[in-house]
Amino acid sequence: MIVAEMKSFHEIKEMLEEYKKILVLGCGSCVTVCMSGGQKQAELLATALRMASKAEGSGRAISELTILRQCDPEFVEQIRDEAAKYEVIISMACGAGVQGMSEWLEKIPVVPAMNTRFIGMTDGKGTWLEVCAACGDCVLSMTGGICPVASCPKGILNGPCGGNKKGKCEVSPDVPCAWVRIYERMKKLGKLDVLKQESGAKDWSKAQTPGSYRIKEEQGFSE
Ligand code: SF4
Ligand code: SF4
Repeated sequence: MIVAEMKSFHEIKEMLEEYKKILVLGCGSCVTVCMSGGQKQAELLATALRMASKAEGSGRAISELTILRQCDPEFVEQIRDEAAKYEVIISMACGAGVQGMSEWLEKIPVVPAMNTRFIGMTDGKGTWLEVCAACGDCVLSMTGGICPVASCPKGILNGPCGGNKKGKCEVSPDVPCAWVRIYERMKKLGKLDVLKQESGAKDWSKAQTPGSYRIKEEQGFSE
């Protein structure tokens, strides 16, 4: 899932300063799972904005709504008429949701309530771990399902490096060395021989860079 966290209330208020009719829009997918931008959080933010408006006497009208996915035009279309009643939408989705809404709703400004952080998985109650850097050329079959790109601070593909100490990474004694984890995992799977195989150069041309990439359902990767 995409993990995001809410911006400070101060920053959110600043973005909304010039508007009187505001829609707080939650997203029912990734940000709901990571408990930062779903229906409950949209209600809480809208309530906080209403209280601030009342205290300041600024007379803002603030409503809240949540749709299943803000990055999908099918769901955005369902609120087109409702959205037209507002001067601005404060989106609680990830950056993809904000951009989808901006594209499809055209005339209505959409501003982000969230900072998008990473692609992650649940790591205990209320914590999420970055596990994928969307590099575009996945090597998990060679590494026992542990990503060296996202989990090794150097992103190296032939670790461990010399900084590894007793299974911990040199960046912190609290961080397990990704390559020691990979080794232990491959050992458990009985696949240590895979680590000895030459895998060829990784195709970094597909890695995230400023630019525009698109996956087509039938054709795979395309520019
Ligand atoms: S190898 Fe690339 S695509 Fe695969 S999990 Fe790691 S960053 Fe993501
Ligand atoms: S100690 Fe392990 S995780 Fe840390 S940088 Fe070296 S190989 Fe990567």
